[in-house]
Amino acid sequence: MSVSSAAAIRVCPWRCIWRGCTVVLLEGCRVGWGASGRNGGQIVTGFSGALTCVERRCGFDHARRLWKLAEEAKALLFALIERHHIACDLRRGYLFAACKPRHLREIQTMMRTSARYGYNMF
Ligand SMILES: Cc1cc2nc3c(=O)[nH]c(=O)nc-3n(C[C@H](O)[C@H](O)[C@H](O)COP(=O)(O)OP(=O)(O)OC[C@H]3O[C@@H](n4cnc5c(N)ncnc54)[C@H](O)[C@@H]3O)c2cc1C
Repeated sequence: MSVSSAAAIRVCPWRCIWRGCTVVLLEGCRVGWGASGRNGGQIVTGFSGALTCVERRCGFDHARRLWKLAEEAKALLFALIERHHIACDLRRGYLFAACKPRHLREIQTMMRTSARYGYNMF
C-alpha cells in the first residue's frame, strides 16, 4: 500500500501499522512542502464551501457521510495530539464573524443546515 500526502505521515501509518501493514511514504518534494506545511492551523467544523452546496451537489445522504468524515477527522486529530503529546498550542473553539448582513444570513443558514446533520455545537 502506498499513499502520497504529507498529512498521511501522521494519520495513515497508525491505522495501517495497527493492522499489520508495511507503510511506505512517497513524497515528490519534501515533507511538509504541500498545504499541510503551510496552512492556517485552524480546526473548524464543516467545509470551506457551504454545506448547502455540498448537499445540492451530492444529495443529503452523501453529504451527511462527508460531514461525518470531517467530524471524525477532527476527533482523530485531537486524539493524535493527546496520544503523542504533540506540543502545538492547541486551542479548541473558533469564531465566525459577520461583517455584512449577507454574512450573518450565511452563518444562520449554516447553523440551521448543520442542525439537520445532528450538529448543535454552534
Ligand atoms: C494557505 C492555506 C491555508 C489553509 N488553512 C487551513 C486551515 O486553517 N485549516 C484546515 O483544516 N485546512 C486548511 N487548509 C487546507 C489543508 O491544509 C489541506 O486540505 C491539507 O493540508 C491537505 O493535505 P494533504 O495531505 O491532502 O495534501 P498536502 O499537504 O498538500 O500534501 C500533498 C503532498 O503530496 C506531494 N505530492 C504531490 N504529487 C506527488 C507525486 N506525484 N508523487 C509524490 N508526492 C507527491 C506534495 O509534494 C505534497 O507534499 C489550508 C490550505 C492552504 C493552502
